[in-house]
Amino acid sequence: MASTFALLITPVADFDIRDTYADTFSVIDASAPALSVGELSTQRGDGIFESIGVSGGHPQEVMPHLERLAHSARLCDLPLPNIEQWREAIAIAADACGEGEWVIKLILSRGIEHGPTPTAWVTAAPAGDFAAARRDGISVVTLDRGFDSGAPGRAPWLLLGAKTLSYAVNMAAIREAKRRGADDAVFVSSDGILLEAPTASLVIRVGDRFVTPRPGAGILHGTTQISVFSFLQAKGYEAVYETLPASALPRVDAAWLVSSVRLAAPIHTVDGTTLPMDSALTAELNAYLLSPRD
Ligand code: PLP
Repeated sequence: MASTFALLITPVADFDIRDTYADTFSVIDASAPALSVGELSTQRGDGIFESIGVSGGHPQEVMPHLERLAHSARLCDLPLPNIEQWREAIAIAADACGEGEWVIKLILSRGIEHGPTPTAWVTAAPAGDFAAARRDGISVVTLDRGFDSGAPGRAPWLLLGAKTLSYAVNMAAIREAKRRGADDAVFVSSDGILLEAPTASLVIRVGDRFVTPRPGAGILHGTTQISVFSFLQAKGYEAVYETLPASALPRVDAAWLVSSVRLAAPIHTVDGTTLPMDSALTAELNAYLLSPRD
């Protein structure tokens, strides 16, 4: 989806809540070239990003997204984002969003090769149409991520758990899922532990318990999953983080892929096995996820 709004940010390292950062932003033409050919984000995918869902002009869960951006920056040895500066930039981008659902992307790159500063920008664009996935559900296949569950601790340079710009592998996994006739993929560690989808968290239901894989397993801690858990807990359900074997997935009472822009897509088939779908709860979840949550 082409961006309709873009804002370049001159990153300011020092945090001072009294400052206003308006003079560090420049609104640019979203349809015109803007990055240097020396950009390490484009040459090496060396940077981090966030995608924030916007509903009716309201950017959802801004602080959890900025906290995760800071977490990714720490894992990648990038300068820590100045939270107030990014909040101001997001507010400006949200003002540029129209009715309905939009997506604001935050990008922090290591910058130009041998350059002195990171490059940072924010875009806003209309969101894709996920109505059918939310209503009718999706099919998934499980795919081996190729790492065992000890890899995140043993090899932190793999950056598992950081939301980096190196998403070529995630996109390849979705293409492989489509080649196998499914809509999306769920990654499994090489020792058989359920992880996440290439662009979403996995939430499953067994009875009145809702479970998601632990973020420590080298997966992203999803802002949508955190919202879903607080919604479910407020309704009196148990919602917990657990290590789950891949063999559990075809036997659950319901499962969803959840993420900031698609929101909650129920899974109707996993590796060819049909799963029950709870359409009423899914509709409630999506109504909640579309309402201003923070
Ligand atoms: N896991 C991965 C790999 C993702 O790329 C995403 C979102 O893009 C998520 C999980 C879900 O995160 P969020 O709910 O914050 O969008």
